[in-house]
Amino acid sequence: MPNINKLNLSDEPLPLNIQAMPSGLGSRPQTPQPGIYRFRLPEAPAIENVFDTQEADDTQILLAVFNNDGMLYNISLKQNYTARISNRFREIKVTNPETKEKEPLLISDFGMLLKALNAVPDRVSNRALATALVQAAGTEFIAEHTLTATCNKKNPIWKQGKTVAGKFGCGRQYAVEGWKSEKSERLQLPVVEGRVALRFTCPCDAELRSWGQLQGFRSV
Ligand SMILES: [Zn+2]
Repeated sequence: MPNINKLNLSDEPLPLNIQAMPSGLGSRPQTPQPGIYRFRLPEAPAIENVFDTQEADDTQILLAVFNNDGMLYNISLKQNYTARISNRFREIKVTNPETKEKEPLLISDFGMLLKALNAVPDRVSNRALATALVQAAGTEFIAEHTLTATCNKKNPIWKQGKTVAGKFGCGRQYAVEGWKSEKSERLQLPVVEGRVALRFTCPCDAELRSWGQLQGFRSV
């Protein structure tokens, strides 16, 4: 190879905008092992395009779907992370500091994400919550990434790269830590060579995948 000074390199401007090129193009985000990681929201304007809605019982449910050029960035692992964070409500019981009684409280993952971002709006509507997330573009937060898998009774099972016609999942549900209550049960995801399996075979013969889920949102 010739030396840079002997190559007679052209100094004609090229039609390339290197700043506009995506970072990490072609690298598929890998599903990490369960753990607590530091994440960063996408920057503007990509964050304006992460929203979607679902209709349930005549109510509009706001969703943030972080994928494509609007992925979250896992700072701890230096890789992109896809996630779907819903504003669907659920009720928990918390102790009221004044009455010291356990009282019901509505929570949502979207709401807890905004709190972790220090981006809680005064007004609470889907539009206001989405706007608050856009205004928090590029902000960092901490969350626990966990894994779950479901052998869905409603879908035909998957085996050797294709669905098996007429054979449905068995309904088993899996989590990183298994547990059992009167009403339901989570089996422990298989661990292979010290790592939680991202793909495994259910006792019913279905091939399953473990999917990531964020919980435990908190501020950096
Ligand atoms: Zn199964």
